Amino acid sequence: MSTQLQTPFARCTWTHLIDGQDRPAGGGKTIDIVSPVDGEIFGSLAAGDAHDVDVAVDAARRAFEGTWSWMTALERGRILMRLGSAVEAEADALAELESRDNGKPLEQARADALALARYLEFYGSSADKLMGDVIPYLGTHFVGVERVPHGVVGHIVPWNYPMQIFGRSVGAALAAGNTSVVKPAEDASLTILAVTALARNAGVPDGVLNVVTGLGSTAGAALAGHPGIDFLSFTGSPATGTAVQAAAARNHVGVTLELGGKSAQIVFADADFDRALPSLVNAIIQNGGQTCSAGSRILVERSAFDRVTAALADRFRALRAGHPLSGPDLGPMINAAQKARVEGYLSGAETEGLMELARGKIAPDAPTGGYYVPPVIFAPASPDSILSQEEVFGPVLVVTPFSDEAEAIRLANGTPYGLIAGVWTRDSMRSLRVARAMRVGQVFVNCYGAGGGIELPFGGFGRSGHGREKGFEGLVGFTTTRTLVMAQS
Ligand code: NAD
Repeated sequence: MSTQLQTPFARCTWTHLIDGQDRPAGGGKTIDIVSPVDGEIFGSLAAGDAHDVDVAVDAARRAFEGTWSWMTALERGRILMRLGSAVEAEADALAELESRDNGKPLEQARADALALARYLEFYGSSADKLMGDVIPYLGTHFVGVERVPHGVVGHIVPWNYPMQIFGRSVGAALAAGNTSVVKPAEDASLTILAVTALARNAGVPDGVLNVVTGLGSTAGAALAGHPGIDFLSFTGSPATGTAVQAAAARNHVGVTLELGGKSAQIVFADADFDRALPSLVNAIIQNGGQTCSAGSRILVERSAFDRVTAALADRFRALRAGHPLSGPDLGPMINAAQKARVEGYLSGAETEGLMELARGKIAPDAPTGGYYVPPVIFAPASPDSILSQEEVFGPVLVVTPFSDEAEAIRLANGTPYGLIAGVWTRDSMRSLRVARAMRVGQVFVNCYGAGGGIELPFGGFGRSGHGREKGFEGLVGFTTTRTLVMAQS
């Protein structure tokens, strides 16, 4: 099977995009672009440093003060919607690029491109609906509260859903009147660069949207600690989130942290299990389990435990990890380190004595140099086991029995994370009680939308982070307020 890129975005050398221009790394360094599909190097990426970040932040500041924040919200919104249409028109090409760069199955990559287009449509069309308040105060005074942009926003993006995370974060920030400097993940930067190149034609003024590529420890750290940044949106691991928040604190800059998860789906014995099964499986294999809101734990009422685990085991045995262009259930892990990390968790589970119930296969078409791991399910898993507590970020599922509603709630909330949850039952009052007891940002009843919809506020509790992105609430998060008090003259 050909792994050559046919997309019009294909090229070997990728530079930063700053102030509307291609710009190689100031220090001249590059990073190899390795495809997880086969381990082959297929290009190079600018390895940005603190100086490149300075240049990008300066450009964003000039654009903020010069054009973007003064433009009408309607005009800004129309530009973003035009960019959304351009992304939609290029969805196939972007999907091909993403599949090669990140390894996700082509159809999932296409869904990401369409989600990005929808984010731009959603935030573009919301820009002129961001309203303020009038506060009743002294009879002699008028008090108005305006929603105003933060200024220059830094966006640090992970590799697992580059287009979607760019869409929710940059789309909302620009719609609110901020300008942006984006640091994509070194393992998957290409679609963000390709979309930024489209932005100029859509009418985004130079300097409004800038991308600096490179390593987290250099370009990322420089952006997180830059004194010219007014707000930061970080999506990634809890450990990096801590470093980013500490760096931002030195400049008294606000941060949204969208971090990891260990999300549980609770299955009561009265659930419509035929309906639940595809969701239970998909929630852990989507993007190879490399999804913050992956449903990596299933809690099953004891009386249904054997029936549920038997059906899950059958399904897992049939799953195939394979070449992203051949329609596999899941593609490869993002890189060699992630593959080794997942394999480390699998051998750790064996040492801990967890019972492996079933595992899928690596398809024969999977190139040998690629980073493939089969999906694996463990049951019954102790809720205290490492696999039940830590985010694996791979296709590894644990199933644990519970005796009653109270125990289900305790187990579901029993990790340091709190991102999303699922509840499966035919008893609507119980579903409401349990859903409202979940310490998470989104709860799905008789469905499970890993990542949720574009319109739905999303974010975590505890180790899953703080602040909300997506939905209208995400737009509000990229603003602050200015209160105007006017006395009668
Ligand atoms: P990561 O934290 O390693 O990297 C995320 C980004 O931070 C990358 O761009 C990286 O280059 C950058 N970075 C690394 N070190 C940095 C530093 N010292 N200073 C500034 N930036 C730095 O995360 P990852 O491995 O790319 O992504 C996986 C993690 O992201 C998982 O924990 C996953 O759950 C989480 N995630 C969360 C969400 C969400 O919305 N909650 C969405 C996707 C992924």
